[in-house]
Amino acid sequence: MSATPHSIETIYADVLRRNPGQPEFHQAVREVLESLTPVLERNPDYVDHRIVERICEPERQVMFRVCWQDDSGAVQINRGMRVEFNSALGPYKGGLRFHPSVNVSIVKFLGFEQIFKNALTGMPIGGGKGGADFDPKGRSDAEVMRFCQAFMTELYRHLGEYTDVPAGDIGVGEREIGFLFGQYKRITNRYESGVLTGKGLDWGGAQVRTEATGYGAAVFANEMLADRGTSMDGKQVVVSGSGNVAIYAVEKVQQLGGTVIACSDSNGYIVDEKGLDVELLKQIKERERARISVYADRVSTASYSESGSVWDVPCQVALPSATQNELDESAAATLAKNGCLVVAEGANMPTTPAGAAVFREAGVGFGPGKAANAGGVATSALEMQQNASRDRWTFEYTEHRLTELMVDIHRRCAETAIEYGQPGNLVVGANIAGFMQVASAMDAQGLM
Ligand code: NAP
Repeated sequence: MSATPHSIETIYADVLRRNPGQPEFHQAVREVLESLTPVLERNPDYVDHRIVERICEPERQVMFRVCWQDDSGAVQINRGMRVEFNSALGPYKGGLRFHPSVNVSIVKFLGFEQIFKNALTGMPIGGGKGGADFDPKGRSDAEVMRFCQAFMTELYRHLGEYTDVPAGDIGVGEREIGFLFGQYKRITNRYESGVLTGKGLDWGGAQVRTEATGYGAAVFANEMLADRGTSMDGKQVVVSGSGNVAIYAVEKVQQLGGTVIACSDSNGYIVDEKGLDVELLKQIKERERARISVYADRVSTASYSESGSVWDVPCQVALPSATQNELDESAAATLAKNGCLVVAEGANMPTTPAGAAVFREAGVGFGPGKAANAGGVATSALEMQQNASRDRWTFEYTEHRLTELMVDIHRRCAETAIEYGQPGNLVVGANIAGFMQVASAMDAQGLM
C-alpha cells in the first residue's frame, strides 16, 4: 500500500493512531483495506464521503462491569462489552464471546469482520460483536446463570429486535443464550423472540442454527473444490477445534463423502485415520463438556497428542474452526507441502496474514472466514425472519436455504474477484463484495 492523501495507507495509519494496542483489530482492518484501492479508484464519491474512514470507526461501543457471586459466595468481577459497529444494512448483529482472552481489540476485530460477512449473506443485518472476559469452563450451571443474568442486566438497554441482536460465539451456546434471554424477558416484560438468536428449538430457535456455521463452511469448501474440478467426496479432511463450528463441519464433511481424520482443542489434538465418530464427539463435547483427549481414551484407533499441531496431519482440505491466528506461516507451509488443496475458515481470522500469503503463493485455495463461516449468521437472520412472522420452518427447508446462501456467497466472491482482475482470490472477492454493499447503503443514508 503506498501513501497519498486519503489513500488506504493514510487511512490505515490513522486507524493505528486512533486505536493503540489493538493488534487483532489492526490486522482485520488491514486485511480488508488491502483489497479496496481499486474500488476507491472506480468510486471517487466513496473517497469524498470518507466511507472507509467511517466504516473503521464503530457507531457505538459500550463497556460495563459485571458482578456476580460464585457458588462459594465469593464476589466475582468481569468486564462486559458490546461494539455496535455498523447499522447501514440492518440492526447490529453478531455473537457474544465468553472467554478469558476477550478484550476490546478482539471484540472490535470480530465486529469489523462481521460487517462484511453480514453484507455477503444478502440479509438485512448490520455488524456488531460483544462478550466478556468470563470463562464458563469449570463453572457450574448455577454460576453460568448468575453471570449471564448480571451481564444482561447491563446489556439489555442497548438491545432490541430492531436495534441489536446478539447470538453465540466461543463460550456462548444454547445454555447461555437461554439464561440471557430469560433475563432480558424478565427486565423488559416482553417476549421479544427476535432479540437473540441461537435460542432453543422449543422456544423460538431455528432448525439448523446449531449446525449452520460448520455445515456452511463445509459446503463453502465443497464449492471451492468444485472450482478445481473435484469435490469433498473421498477427501481427507482436518478440522481444528471441537466446539460448535468444528463438530458440525465434521458432520457435513462426512455427509459430502469426505473423511475427517483429526480435530483439536486448546490442549491437543486427536487423529483417527478411520474417520472421526461425530456422535461420540457430540457426546464428549456437548453433553459431558469434557476434553478432546477423552475421545482417544474411548476409541482404540484414535491417538491423542499435545506436541506439534493438528496442521501436521496431512490432508487435502483444512477447516480451521477454533480461534483467531491459530494457523501461522509454518503451519500453512506444512499444509501446502502435504498437498492441501483448499482451506476454508470456519473460525474468524484463524489464519495469520503470513499464513494466508503462503497459501496464495502455493496455489492453495483460501476461503476467508467472513465468507466461509457466514452460514451461522445467515441462519440467525432466518431465525429472526421466523420469529417476526411467528413461523417455524422444517430442518430440510432451512438447510436448503442455508446451502443456497453458501453457494451464492461463494459465487459472489468468485465473480467479484474476476471482475477486479484477481480470479480465484476469494479474499479480495469477499472484501470488495461486502464493502460495496455496505458503502452504497451508508452513502444513501447520508452523513452519520
Ligand atoms: P466453541 O464452541 O466455544 O468452540 C471453540 C473451540 O475452539 C473449542 O474446541 C476450543 O477448545 C477451541 N479453542 C478456543 N480457543 C483456542 C485456542 N486459543 N487455541 C486452540 N483452540 C482453541 O466456539 P465456536 O462457536 O465453535 O467458535 C469457533 C470459531 O468460529 C470462533 O472463531 C468463532 O468466532 C467462529 N464463529 C462461530 C460461529 C458460530 O455460529 N458459533 C459463527 C461464525 C464464526 P477449548 O475447549 O480447549 O477452549
